[in-house]
Amino acid sequence: GSERARDRGMAYYKPSRDAYSADRLTMVSELRKALDDHQLALYLQPKQSLTTGQVVGMEALIRWPGRQKKVSPDEIVLLAEQTGLIKPLTRWVLEESLRLRTQLLEQGWDLELSANISPNNLREADFSLYVQRLMNQYDGHRGAVTFEVTETSMMLDPANSLEALNALNAAGIRVSIDDFGSGYSSLSYIKQLPASEIKIDRSLVTDLPSQAEDRVIVQTTIDMCHNLGYQVVAEGVEDQATADLLRDMGCDMIQGYLVTPPLPVDELLDWLNTNGHQPSRKLG
Ligand code: C2E
Ligand code: MG
Ligand code: MG
Ligand code: MG
Repeated sequence: GSERARDRGMAYYKPSRDAYSADRLTMVSELRKALDDHQLALYLQPKQSLTTGQVVGMEALIRWPGRQKKVSPDEIVLLAEQTGLIKPLTRWVLEESLRLRTQLLEQGWDLELSANISPNNLREADFSLYVQRLMNQYDGHRGAVTFEVTETSMMLDPANSLEALNALNAAGIRVSIDDFGSGYSSLSYIKQLPASEIKIDRSLVTDLPSQAEDRVIVQTTIDMCHNLGYQVVAEGVEDQATADLLRDMGCDMIQGYLVTPPLPVDELLDWLNTNGHQPSRKLG
């Protein structure tokens, strides 16, 4: 190939350059074992309405607590994608997060659940069938589950992603476009997706109070998304000034350290019960 093609290849594959280094091979077998032995965990991060102040949902985020040398969720997921482990990993995430949602329901907290899925999952021939069966098994959670997919990842295989998301949507799964505004994507493509929510990437949110350009981009994004019928979530909100700006801009929901960092389920329950939040629907 030409120099350019090689450059592009390098840029695209950069994270996996050392995919076969001893370190990574060790990490792969450790990850496989952690998955088998149920040593991975999910932390939950609330999603808060800017209009009512209510906690309306939560996002499940993967953690590997027992590991000596810390490894980030991005790295876990990348490793899993490169080794085929993403299939069992995502299925574990979905089952475990539904189990946690059941636990919260039993405590009177009816929060929508969002789980992140990989574009690789959308290429599994039996993924939508698997999800249909899962939702039959967890029937009471129907309509309360959203899959988050990043805009960039879908652009790797747009036709397949669209087809797979339509099948999931038909199975009752809501779709959210994650990290919106962080990469390249085509609006003519995005508008075809069966999405009900857009999550504005943290990079556009972080410096909102000081960056006039970011405010223009975020305001335009919110207005456009509303006109297209999407709910808008801002991620990575760390201070009150940013939350106030987003509320003034008409943003629907926020997530971020201002509300709370992701928490283990027990700590989330404590947090919900001690922060004056109202259950969106009290059971019994
Ligand atoms: P994401 O889905 O965009 O998740 C948001 C990330 O921002 C999370 O990082 C969260 O902990 C972090 N975050 C939330 N609020 C704030 C804030 O106010 N400030 C800052 N600086 N960060 C904030 P995390 O947990 O490290 O996850 C990183 C990414 O890894 C996720 O980005 C998602 O793409 C991926 N990921 C995590 N769990 C899973 C999973 O179960 N499956 C898949 N496929 N991907 C996952
Ligand atoms: Mg996400
Ligand atoms: Mg995101
Ligand atoms: Mg992200």
